[in-house]
Amino acid sequence: MWTVVGFLGGGIVGLVLVLPRLRFLRPRRVLACDLCQRRHRRLLVAMVLLAALSVTGFGLRASQKARELPACVADVSISEGRRVIDPQVPRRGSLRSTVRSVLTAPVSGLALAFAEVRGRGLCSVGDPPITLAFVPQSKDHPGSMVGEVFLSSPTPRINPVRAAMLARHESRHVDQWAVCSTIGGIGLLPVAYLVDSTVYPGSENHFEQSAGLDAGGYAPPPHPPVGPRPWAVAFWVAVVLVIGRRRIRWAVRTLVRRHSTHAPDRCPVHTPGWT
Ligand SMILES: [Zn+2]
Ligand SMILES: [Zn+2]
Repeated sequence: MWTVVGFLGGGIVGLVLVLPRLRFLRPRRVLACDLCQRRHRRLLVAMVLLAALSVTGFGLRASQKARELPACVADVSISEGRRVIDPQVPRRGSLRSTVRSVLTAPVSGLALAFAEVRGRGLCSVGDPPITLAFVPQSKDHPGSMVGEVFLSSPTPRINPVRAAMLARHESRHVDQWAVCSTIGGIGLLPVAYLVDSTVYPGSENHFEQSAGLDAGGYAPPPHPPVGPRPWAVAFWVAVVLVIGRRRIRWAVRTLVRRHSTHAPDRCPVHTPGWT
């Protein structure tokens, strides 16, 4: 039961985090340490919430898939719910696209829920099909791929060649969503993208590079490169240090005393004192 929650909530990482905390696998030191117990409960609560969010998203996506969406047709602009990609009626997806659909369904469903609140309609384009949702966004950005749902914003007319290129680019983002959701649940890609784009801004972003800069409407990366930006690296290192401070303390103390130590009612990690 917890393995399912762990996987739904945090993908493979969630599984790895939850498994050692199962009652029969939990080390005795964790049972003895009340801080570990509290941490353990918090983690399980977070996993339950994330898993619930994933299941909700999956359900929303499944119910939306059940109603046939109109194909995105006409030729004016993304904003009016018109064509972005060849207006061919989607064929039956390949196995690969089916797997991808299932893996990205939770986040696609959440994007649809968002579009339902903020948006102005949905349609389906391309092969494998992606769903276009029209929501007001910033003007200079063509849109964001969230799972298999492209949240698009008002843009000027785009021609069919550009549209096909953009579709290829966004399709690569769907692959990224599928892989990241499997590894770390629905939250991994946004976090990884955020970290990457602070360290490597704009065209140097690795997710955009792997999706194809040109097709995505990005300029070629600058010379000399801007990233890695020192302040961003320093910031994320600081974040990791803050998160891992107790383990660092434990490591330092173990090095100083040359053996692991702990207070009687605490595990080594939660024992205070640096020396
Ligand atoms: Zn502890
Ligand atoms: Zn992109």
